[in-house]
Amino acid sequence: MEPAKRAGVGARSETQLEEHVKDWLRYGEDLGLAPYYRDRPPLHAVARPASLEARSVTTPSEISSAVPAAIPSTVPMTMTAAAPGRAPSSPVYVTASPSASQKCAPAATILPAAAPSLFAAIERIAGDTLPRIREDIGDCTRCKLHKARTKIVFGTGNPNADLMFVGEGPGRDEDLSGEPFVGRAGKLLTDMIKAMGLQREDVYIANVVKCRPPENRLPEKDEITTCSPFLMRQIDAIKPKVICTLGSCSAQTLLQTAQGISKLRGEWFDFRGVKLMPTYHPAYLLRNPAAKPEVWKDLQKVMAVLGLQPKKR
Ligand code: URA
Repeated sequence: MEPAKRAGVGARSETQLEEHVKDWLRYGEDLGLAPYYRDRPPLHAVARPASLEARSVTTPSEISSAVPAAIPSTVPMTMTAAAPGRAPSSPVYVTASPSASQKCAPAATILPAAAPSLFAAIERIAGDTLPRIREDIGDCTRCKLHKARTKIVFGTGNPNADLMFVGEGPGRDEDLSGEPFVGRAGKLLTDMIKAMGLQREDVYIANVVKCRPPENRLPEKDEITTCSPFLMRQIDAIKPKVICTLGSCSAQTLLQTAQGISKLRGEWFDFRGVKLMPTYHPAYLLRNPAAKPEVWKDLQKVMAVLGLQPKKR
């Protein structure tokens, strides 16, 4: 190729690369991650639980290549992208893999959780209620997340909901407002709920951890272990027919697996007698709209179990 043309190709790909980086930065801003990316220490200085092995998340291109051609690229949700986790380069912590027997065969098959649940030993508290759980959380200082939080984000919605969504942990907007999923990812979750023919008030929305991890980092194992029993009590009090986990953290926490979200999503699991459907986190869809059809397929499975009709457009 002539040098001039080669230069042209190089210039174009540099522009593309620049656009790509800008796109990620915009995404980081959207999630309130900008300070993390700007100010984070070198990777070797970031504390990681010693017992956990990290592996890379599936890349957006790997995921979009898995979208079946038959599925329309548009779905009745105004969803626009990231990785199955919080940030583009976030690792997924791997502790174990679910056994082959957990894989769902026919539509009605419900898979058991991967390993003895973190919650297996947690007794159900007879007559437990959301106000009582909130009262028990109090002005919590049980883990280090309390130090930087503004508000505890307990959860919102219908205390008798048939459908419960579980995210990872509050971001900046949620920390300030005290409500889960109110930022850009939250608006997308609201669109997803509406596309299912429901209103936000019809469902219950909670997170694995109730306080914002600083700079929106992933919640750490000790924080999850400390906080998630309250999530368990919320699930027991609400008794939803279906739990829809959003992203890898909530699926891996409730199912006690290290399996990546791209493997877990779309399959039914059993969580202490409640049907559990893992799907991608809305923040992932903000970065990677190509995964929308997959999420819509997962939500349609949930709708079929709950007898819901999609919103008329
Ligand atoms: N992401 C989450 O996982 N939870 C929220 O509440 C907001 C963003």
